[in-house]
Amino acid sequence: MVTHLAAARERLAQVPDPEIPAVTLVDLGIVRDLRETASGVEVVLTPTYSGCPATELIADEVRAALAEFGDVTITLQRAPAWSTDWITPEGRQKLQQYGIVPPQCSAEQAIKVVPRLRCPRCDSGSTQQLSRFGSTACKSTWRCIECGEPFEYFKPI
Ligand SMILES: [Zn+2]
Repeated sequence: MVTHLAAARERLAQVPDPEIPAVTLVDLGIVRDLRETASGVEVVLTPTYSGCPATELIADEVRAALAEFGDVTITLQRAPAWSTDWITPEGRQKLQQYGIVPPQCSAEQAIKVVPRLRCPRCDSGSTQQLSRFGSTACKSTWRCIECGEPFEYFKPI
């Protein structure tokens, strides 16, 4: 069976993240590889957080998106662990526009430095962290002192 890897890659690049639909799985760096197999394609995924319940959902979405290319084999690759460093520049831009501040530094720096975030809505630098955990463990909740709006920060890991 002849698969068209380029077409499959393009299709794969459209699949949104189930938790943050503003970005795609490719934007987040979750998709590690796409290979041709004898009967279809194999997609290598590295889930963002080991406890993320979205992993099954992500696998289902990828299977559905690539169904026309034959059998879809999903391989979960957990090492090396996913890092926010893998989020593409385009992904960071989309997160910012969506109102989630993308990671401001590498995971290594994050251990030492508390970030100074700018509000994604009004760009004010007076912000405060409200909670270390937001709607998911991946994010923390912040508030802008200037406009009063809460926003989320995608923590570096
Ligand atoms: Zn603001």
